[in-house]
Parts: sequence; structure tokens; C-alpha cells
Amino acid sequence: MTETQALLEALLSAPGVSGDEGPAALAAKALLPAAQWVKISPVGSLIAQLSPPRPNKSCLLLTAHLDQIGLVVTHPPEKGFVRASCVGGVDRRMAAGARVEIDTPQGPLPGVVTSTPPHLQSGEPKLPESTLLIDLGGLPEDESLHPRPGMTGRFMLEPTRLLGTRYTAPALDNRAGCAAVVAGALGLSARSPDFGVILALTAAEETGGAGGATAAFGLDITHAVVVDMSMAATGFEPPHKAGKLGGGPMVGFAPALHYNFALALERLAAELGIATEREVMASATGTDSEAIAKSCGGIKTALLSIPLRYMHTAAETLELEDIAQTARLLSAIGEETLC
Ligand SMILES: [Zn+2]
Repeated sequence: MTETQALLEALLSAPGVSGDEGPAALAAKALLPAAQWVKISPVGSLIAQLSPPRPNKSCLLLTAHLDQIGLVVTHPPEKGFVRASCVGGVDRRMAAGARVEIDTPQGPLPGVVTSTPPHLQSGEPKLPESTLLIDLGGLPEDESLHPRPGMTGRFMLEPTRLLGTRYTAPALDNRAGCAAVVAGALGLSARSPDFGVILALTAAEETGGAGGATAAFGLDITHAVVVDMSMAATGFEPPHKAGKLGGGPMVGFAPALHYNFALALERLAAELGIATEREVMASATGTDSEAIAKSCGGIKTALLSIPLRYMHTAAETLELEDIAQTARLLSAIGEETLC
């Protein structure tokens, strides 16, 4: 197992559905003994200092969202079934018959999303409703163990290494980005840079971005690199805007992003022999970037996206090497990159 896979699996080991990121934040915190301080912000983001800010020097924020899409229980359970709504942009096409877990304080309760077999449906099979009926197989006798409205849940699939260094699991969006920024921030701090390095794993990106909007508050951040996921093509669809698995990080160009900072990251990647692709967005990036760029007095913000197939399903698929190369690029950032 590569270091990247081990780090990714440590980050995938705990749930963190938007608004309920606590367990995932604790799992991430355990990876940061090198930090000078670590705190959980009031909205649930994990923020850590890896290199102290210096007067008249840059201060770099490396950030990725920690939360994941999932489910929230909407009604008390009934006859061994419970209703739950999708949290974030779940691809509901995969919901029918999907394995899920509801996270109760006593531990996860397994369940299956109900599905009417095609044999019993007339016409084309329908897309599952946004409120799903989940079969728990019964209910624990002890009522205190029952799932309650407001508890979150997740779509489950065993993380699996495919051939080569391809990897498939739920929540790779954006634990893969978290893995890249954690490894990048640790790599940077090991070089004792003469500028500040702050790490933020933000809450609630999939549901409005409260974590991104508040991550830089009270910290004298001058520059930020946001790491998130973007679409990777399979090669079988008609050509459209998508990245390539194994093509390295995608450098974002968008109105909210700092043009020269993006160019500096491209130059640094070229010097290191790291392949990159350009991702051009004419308006919003669909990430924390906009919120971070306009927070505090304004922050020069760059976006690196890791290519991902089957986004917002339980079988998100990526190339582990793209995470490793993104981390390598982040850990090589120097004062000259922070233009
Ligand atoms: Zn994301």
C-alpha cells in the first residue's frame, strides 16, 4: 500500500456528512501531530497551523472540504423502515437498492434503500425520489438505539483498489483533496518555510459553504490554494469538458481565481516534472474558492482539482498518483510562487 493510499484510507475511515463532520475532523486531527495548534471552528471546519505567520511575509492557506454528500433521517422509523432525504447533490440514479449506514451515537445501523423491481413497474423505471425509504431489516428492541430525525447516513461501498493505482470508494470527493492538502501542508512544514502555512478542512461545502466562507477569519491569510475534485472522462463519452485520470492536478482559471498565482503553480509543476491540465471556468467554480477569495480583505486564491470519475455516487473513482502529485506540488510552494 502506498503512503497516499494509507493517508486517504485514514481520512475515509470516519463519516462526515455535511453538517455532521465531527468524526471526520477527529480522524484528520490524528494525522496532524506536527501542527502548532489545531482547532475545530464553530461551523465544524478543522483548522491547523503548520508554519507560524511572519511579519511582512505571505501566509498560505491550504484548504479542501471535509464534508461528503449523504442522507439525513427525516421521520421516526416505522415497521423497520426509515425515511431519509439526500444531503448535497447525490446522484439519485444509484440510490435504488444501495447499501447505506445511518450513524447513530451507538454506532452505524446498516440498511438498504428500497427499490421496486422493473418487473413490477409499468413503463420506464423511475428515478428514486429525493426522500428515500430505507429498509433496516427491523428495529433494535432498545428504543434508545433507534435512528432519530436529524441523524445522518451515508451510501456505502467497500473502498477497492482497481488495477494499477486506480481506486474506488464513496466520499473521495473530497477526502482525496483532504489527503493532498494534509500531505502538502506536512511536506511544506518539514521544509520550515519562512512564511505562514495554515491548513483548513472545511465543513458544509456540499450544502452552502459555511466552512469555506469562515475558514480564513482572524488569520492573516494572503494566499489560498483550494483542492477539490473535478470531472474525469472515461473516454467513451462524446468529447466534453473533463479531465484525464492520471493527468495530474487540473489548474483552475476562473474569474474568482488569481491568474498570476495559477500561472506560478503551473510553472512550479513544470519545474518539478508534474503534469497538469488547465480547467477553464467562465463563471463560478462550484468549490469553496469564491467564498475564500472574497473573505477577510480578499485572498489571492488558486484552485487545483483532482480528476474524478462517477462524482457523487458511491463508486467515485480516481488515480492515487494524481493525489500524490498534487501533494508534491503543494509541498514545493515557495515565497516566489506566492506572487
Ligand atoms: Zn467537492
